[in-house]
Amino acid sequence: MDFSLTKEQKDIKKAAAEFARGEFKTDLVLDCEANHRFPREIYKKAGELGFIGLDYPEDFGGGGLGIMENVLVIEEFCKADSGFGMALHLAFLPAKIVKIFGTPDQKRKFLSPLIKGDWVSAVSFTEPDHGSDLTRMETTLTELEDGYVLNGTKVFTTNGGYADFFIVLAQEDEAARPGKGMTTILVERAPSSWLGGSLEINEIGGKMGLKMTSSSELVFKNLKLPKENILGERGRGLQNVLDFLDESRIEIGAQALGNCEGAFLKALNHAKKRIQFNKPIMDFQAIGHKLARMWSRIQSLKWLNYYGAWICDHKSDKLSGTVPLFTSVIKHHVPETAKGIIDDAMTVFGGYGYFLDQEVERRYRDNRIVEVYEGTVEVQLNNITRILKKLNPGFLESELL
Ligand SMILES: Cc1cc2nc3c(=O)[nH]c(=O)nc-3n(C[C@H](O)[C@H](O)[C@H](O)COP(=O)(O)OP(=O)(O)OC[C@H]3O[C@@H](n4cnc5c(N)ncnc54)[C@H](O)[C@@H]3O)c2cc1C
Repeated sequence: MDFSLTKEQKDIKKAAAEFARGEFKTDLVLDCEANHRFPREIYKKAGELGFIGLDYPEDFGGGGLGIMENVLVIEEFCKADSGFGMALHLAFLPAKIVKIFGTPDQKRKFLSPLIKGDWVSAVSFTEPDHGSDLTRMETTLTELEDGYVLNGTKVFTTNGGYADFFIVLAQEDEAARPGKGMTTILVERAPSSWLGGSLEINEIGGKMGLKMTSSSELVFKNLKLPKENILGERGRGLQNVLDFLDESRIEIGAQALGNCEGAFLKALNHAKKRIQFNKPIMDFQAIGHKLARMWSRIQSLKWLNYYGAWICDHKSDKLSGTVPLFTSVIKHHVPETAKGIIDDAMTVFGGYGYFLDQEVERRYRDNRIVEVYEGTVEVQLNNITRILKKLNPGFLESELL
């Protein structure tokens, strides 16, 4: 058993921390937060320095590395700033479906500009009547001789306001059983790429956090797309999405990990400096123990998240069955626990923690969505229960306990 990061992984983690320290300037962060602006210029710089698509193939400009390296970068970005860190990650994460299922031509066309920081991606699964339950889509996809036609409405698409392409889940076979007959298709934002029809994008305002990203409604009206935009096997759309989520939820966990680590560091610094009753508040056992517990919880989250990334990158036949299990463990446990840690950080800050200036309250607001998107906490617990019911107890005891 070896828990150490490789030299390359340590260098990547350090470089990500240095990039975030240099680029995530407070004035810029607060400006993006107040004006609900995606920091495209910082995204571009992140691409130029190789932080985007570390797990994407080298042939298309990616790093040829794994989920672990992505986790390290996302952790450092979110540790430095929850708003910037999450917005940057969410801009390239959706393209992972193209990495997994795309043809070489699709990878060249969609991944190459994304990896350079020129393109932003988005996924559109959720519909007004289908959120946790994606076993049927009302958005339809119809095959014509010379293309496909999309009709329907999607909601809550992150990056909708500025994404260059969308990966849309649609029902192709309307008579299929639940979970079947769906297909994933690539939709470019540029109308010049369409063969007919329209795509209307409407911003959904008034979000609690994650204010540097856009959240949109997408309305497809007879949107005609070329045949080559089909992504992955037709009729296997939901399975494509689930395979994507196995990797993406581990990375999403790293958002919450970084968010709470950053809150902890701020709280620790404050507790050492803030004097009440003639001593630093850290010397009051109530505050000292709180920080000690925060630290312990962070360590458990960190190693859980790293382990999930590691098994994802080292899928042996024996371990591959545990990837969906750890994906769901990370996706519910890390954000829920991180929420408590950030809440504790607010307590350490007293009244100051309630104001944007200290940015712990923003971490709380930003982090809250990690419990919801890409499958809620409740859905993850359902997944874990279902897998545990099926797992052979002998395997559990020998491999996991
Ligand atoms: C800021 C933001 C960004 C998002 N980004 C995207 C995106 O980019 N692309 C995209 O496609 N979607 C996106 N989503 C949508 C997100 O994935 C869904 O909101 C989420 O999956 C839950 O669906 P819902 O909101 O319809 O809630 P519902 O499914 O209606 O759930 C409501 C409540 O019931 C619970 N519940 C539902 N079913 C069960 C069950 N079987 N067992 C136990 N409890 C259950 C849920 O856990 C939840 O607490 C985003 C959402 C937000 C808020």
